[in-house]
Amino acid sequence: MPTSEEIHKRRTAAVARGVGSVVSSYVDHAGGGTLTDVDGQEWIDFASGIAVTSVGNAAPRVVAAVREQVARFTHTCFMVAPYESYVAVAETLNALTPGGFEKRSALFSSGAEAVENAVKIARHATGRPAVVVFDHAYHGRTNLTMAMTAKSMPYKHRFGPFAGEIYRVPMSYPFRDGGLSGAEAAARTLDQVEKQVGAANVAAVIAEPIQGEGGFVVPADGFLPALAAWSRDAGAVFVADEIQTGFCRTGTWFACEREGVEPDLVTTAKGIAGGLPLGAVTGRAEIMDAVHPGGLGGTYGGNPLACAAALAAIETMRELDLAAAARRIESVMVPRLRALAERDPRVGDVRGRGAMLAVELVQPGTITPDAATTSAVSAACHRSGLLTLTCGTYGNVLRFLPPLVIDDTTLERGLEILEGAFDLTR
Ligand SMILES: *Cc1c(COP(=O)(O)O)cnc(C)c1O
Repeated sequence: MPTSEEIHKRRTAAVARGVGSVVSSYVDHAGGGTLTDVDGQEWIDFASGIAVTSVGNAAPRVVAAVREQVARFTHTCFMVAPYESYVAVAETLNALTPGGFEKRSALFSSGAEAVENAVKIARHATGRPAVVVFDHAYHGRTNLTMAMTAKSMPYKHRFGPFAGEIYRVPMSYPFRDGGLSGAEAAARTLDQVEKQVGAANVAAVIAEPIQGEGGFVVPADGFLPALAAWSRDAGAVFVADEIQTGFCRTGTWFACEREGVEPDLVTTAKGIAGGLPLGAVTGRAEIMDAVHPGGLGGTYGGNPLACAAALAAIETMRELDLAAAARRIESVMVPRLRALAERDPRVGDVRGRGAMLAVELVQPGTITPDAATTSAVSAACHRSGLLTLTCGTYGNVLRFLPPLVIDDTTLERGLEILEGAFDLTR
């Protein structure tokens, strides 16, 4: 087996520079909470491949289900010759997502594709063009979703022109908006929508219930319910992008559940299938079924391996009660992060929910973002064998997404490395 250094040299000569990696160690195998690189170094995993491997890497049920499926058939294309597992995934999503109404689902291959299709469906069902998105939003890297994503560098820089009829409005961001209540933040935002877009033109309001790449921003209580209520009154489709927050990550199956919000459509991907590529749009039957037959699909959407993996991953979440596991991870991590914030004035905010947690770093005593320290702490974690990610519009948020199956010993070891990294960069 070549070393990471050798592979990295080949990579530089073979792989496009625009595709980055957080670390330059190359993975050999991975389990529930650790990755081992080709040089034999073990990493504690606080990334889960960006909130994907919630059931762990190589989760036994997922591995068995995919093995069984790959030997039967790899692909027929659901639009050509359908198979039962696609239907079973749709049934499962219809039952699991918030909302007691009748639902339908359509399956795709990625999160961005799910978001694009939610927009297609909402526009078709309403006959309206405008799509309302938020400051700090992240919805993907395809042309339409780049328009919906807020941050220019690295996602949009020189990749335009972007799709039209996308309108960006303020998010509820308690650490940075002077502590507006959810109702106040929603009133400000919705006033802007009414004045600048016009309620009658809005096809969809699309929000991440807790923002992901934008900085793990948790809106103030009441913000999401106000958006959902406004959308209902305006005849617009309220879409919750639960691609990062879904599947037990925040301590419930979906993050919207905490405030009883029932989105018209929910987009999912990431944690859905234990690492196999799958995305979905699930929602009200009358909205989903507005689209003519043949209007939705894709060659690989709902691939049989991904469907087998999704059914096995969801069964694992049920069997191991991974929503409770996420809440337990929160109860271990948050006190440690709060204690860190108490003794280190560079930590301006500790936030998140379940196993989707973050610290925002600032110049002490201000809310001025400190991206340099954030990178330095993350790099110190990497040198000590803890895989962490940064995020945020200002690049000053260190986020933690451990697999939900991580054991306490590994979690505590990870926290010790993290605390050490803060000390090393002082
Ligand atoms: C990751 C992400 C996407 C895009 O998903 P891809 O599978 O990378 O296309 C969209 N929305 C949110 C909230 C995400 O976190």
